[in-house]
Amino acid sequence: MTEPSPQALQVDNLHKSFGPHEVLKGVSAKASKGDVISIIGSSGSGKSTFLRCINLLEIPDRGRIVVNGEEIAWKPGRGGQMQPKSWRQIERLRTGLGMVFQSFNLWAHRTVLENVIEAPVHVLGVPRREAIEKAEALLNKVGLYEKRHAYPAFLSGGQQQRAAIARALCVDPAVMLFDEPTSALDPELVGEVLKVIRDLAEEGRTMLLVTHEMRFARDVSSHVLFLHQGRIEEEGPPKQIFDTPLSARCREFTGMLV
Ligand code: ADP
Ligand code: MG
Repeated sequence: MTEPSPQALQVDNLHKSFGPHEVLKGVSAKASKGDVISIIGSSGSGKSTFLRCINLLEIPDRGRIVVNGEEIAWKPGRGGQMQPKSWRQIERLRTGLGMVFQSFNLWAHRTVLENVIEAPVHVLGVPRREAIEKAEALLNKVGLYEKRHAYPAFLSGGQQQRAAIARALCVDPAVMLFDEPTSALDPELVGEVLKVIRDLAEEGRTMLLVTHEMRFARDVSSHVLFLHQGRIEEEGPPKQIFDTPLSARCREFTGMLV
């Protein structure tokens, strides 16, 4: 019998409301090492909130999050709301989750290289020399070595997003979280970013990817979640979701009205 591959991420029954608006109504997902899980669904369905809850940029109301076998511990906070038991644990787990945002979020007053070494040096305490070596290798990999001393404003959107991907990779995350990484890009720059993400998938990186690039999601995903109004309406292998979806909503969304 083969050993089951180690779970990189497990999320069970996540709930999140903003005031009276219940945005996540019990969403679960799991990723084994090397899985690429795409999350699709219309605007407002809760995709970003789901990713933001996983790395605790938002505190979920309820649910279980396990990163690399380590479960986030909770305690009841004010008004019965969940609070992390230990912010130190959150800090540690967060560095295991490389987040890439739609809007790049690079530090404008730091060079590309300085952006990439920021977390390893200041959060993980990696010696500067070592971090620079690693950052340069990653920048080379995403095709930005020549631009390492440039400031973000002097880069195209595609270059900025590739720098943001190198930055997320520089802490050796267990899971990469991408939130519509190509949505803010001019169409001619989308391909260069998707290529970097595809290379990471082929290397066996574990990823959760929110995207509207349906063809890309179909190609690279091991599993697809279709979110609708805060619930998983349908999930399955990409072939099912894109070719033979069971739910009418999913069929409509993936453009296969029959
Ligand atoms: P998606 O990424 O699928 O477009 P989001 O997760 O961004 O959806 O948003 C889901 C819903 O939650 C939307 O109705 C949005 O307005 C609401 N929402 C998201 N973040 C907040 C917030 N910080 N405060 C209040 N409402 C929010
Ligand atoms: Mg979103």
